[in-house]
Amino acid sequence: MMTLLTCCNYIDGQWLSAAAGTILESRNPALVHEVVATFPRSQADDVDTAVAAARKAYHSWRKVPAPARAEYVFRVGELLLQHKEELAQLISREMGKPLTEARGDIQEGIDCAFYSAGEGRRLFGQTTPSEMPNKFAMTVRMPIGVCALITPWNFPVAIPCWKAMPALVCGNTVILKPAEDTPACATKLIEIFAGAGLPPGVINLVHGVGEEVGKALVEHPDVDLVSFTGSSQTGAYVGATCGRTHKRVCLEMGGKNAQVVMEDADLELALDGAIWGAFGTTGQRCTATSRLILHRDIKEKFTTMLHERTTKLRLGAGNDSDTDIGPIINERQLQRVSQYMDIAREEGAKVLIGGEIASDGSLKHGYFFQPTILDCVTPDMRVAREEIFGPVVALIEVNSFEEAIAILNDSKYGLSSSVYTRDINRAFTAMRDIEAGITYINGPTIGAEVHLPFGGVKQTGNGHREAGTTALDVFTEWKSVYVDF
Ligand code: NAP
Repeated sequence: MMTLLTCCNYIDGQWLSAAAGTILESRNPALVHEVVATFPRSQADDVDTAVAAARKAYHSWRKVPAPARAEYVFRVGELLLQHKEELAQLISREMGKPLTEARGDIQEGIDCAFYSAGEGRRLFGQTTPSEMPNKFAMTVRMPIGVCALITPWNFPVAIPCWKAMPALVCGNTVILKPAEDTPACATKLIEIFAGAGLPPGVINLVHGVGEEVGKALVEHPDVDLVSFTGSSQTGAYVGATCGRTHKRVCLEMGGKNAQVVMEDADLELALDGAIWGAFGTTGQRCTATSRLILHRDIKEKFTTMLHERTTKLRLGAGNDSDTDIGPIINERQLQRVSQYMDIAREEGAKVLIGGEIASDGSLKHGYFFQPTILDCVTPDMRVAREEIFGPVVALIEVNSFEEAIAILNDSKYGLSSSVYTRDINRAFTAMRDIEAGITYINGPTIGAEVHLPFGGVKQTGNGHREAGTTALDVFTEWKSVYVDF
């Protein structure tokens, strides 16, 4: 019998129930009758309380020296390391990803903690010569204030860490609104932040529904910054509202990432990349490979190889060691993926393998979808243009490298991209001409590292980047200081 977790909000250093409102549940997507956690459906009043606590704490937290703020974040990293296995089990159970991937999710958080903690000693400004005699000029980084962090379910530990850790080191206070599907992961994560001894109000957690708690945070007059990761549809609302209410906003949204395989590529390497990129995390990654752009000379051979490897993938619960592909997060998303199969067939694409909800044996108790390859896809089809967010990859044939890059770029999104080739000239041309925030040469579209900027162009992002030193530009404001002497 698995334990049922009772999740509370964390406000001003206290674990609290919501002031009013009902209780919601999260379920194991591999075994949908299993309730993993209950959590409060918080309301605007709870958001008000959290914002007031974060504002109060901000006045003193911003004055704590950055190296001392960083020590708390370092401690969070140590605690994450200590609780890694327990948290990984919880991620697999609540979100469904295989355990190896769940450990990777937490490792991102750990890497981010140690990297961000280092920034506490590197929050550099600049000194610069002044035009005037007896004047000293310099720049310093200032925190922004109260930051609302709104996060999705697909990386329930890594994404909140990517946001909260640099935000705290920079001197901000934060309120996390996690996804409804993963409240237990968020609660355990905030327990770890609390365990690091952060002063009350510096980090807060408010559970609930996006259209209620998320909306209340985005519209709140005393929130200074919203850092959002999620769909482009919600992001458009968040961006517009922050514009109207004069908040700084950082948006990380959807993708329709392509892997190009040229005729001179190492096909085995490209195959590993395609399998991992398309089906890792059940295709539920913003950087997932959802288009495979194949040169006509290798198309048939590569498709056969891909088909064969796909037949060997095993579906199952995340915490079953045999599992390659876990479940889809929820019923709504399962139906959405399924509907895209109807759209694909209507538009003339051919389902090479998969294309159905998987319901054999124990799979019928969860939200499983067969790994799917769509062939005969043309760039104008909806399955080549819209984010599906499931284990589905569309094959598009091209005649040349130039055509491949043009099709790759013909998307409203611009997050990740990949080109497999042995030609150094093509590699550098791809690096220059691809319109995306991330380009891999001879690597899959997924697998970011925490010290490099992460994010996309076009409708994927709004120009800010997470991770690396670029995160400091999200969570600080520059001040120019002139000192006459
Ligand atoms: P989503 O529906 O947009 O939800 C994301 C977050 O926003 C959740 O916490 C959600 O709360 C909240 N939310 C929903 N409506 C809101 C509103 N009106 N105001 C404020 N907050 C609101 O996205 P998702 O389905 O969870 O995540 C999948 C999407 O995220 C995909 O498009 C994927 O590409 C994208 N993603 C992008 C990145 C990146 O770095 N670019 C990384 C991971 C995922 P509820 O859960 O309560 O609805």
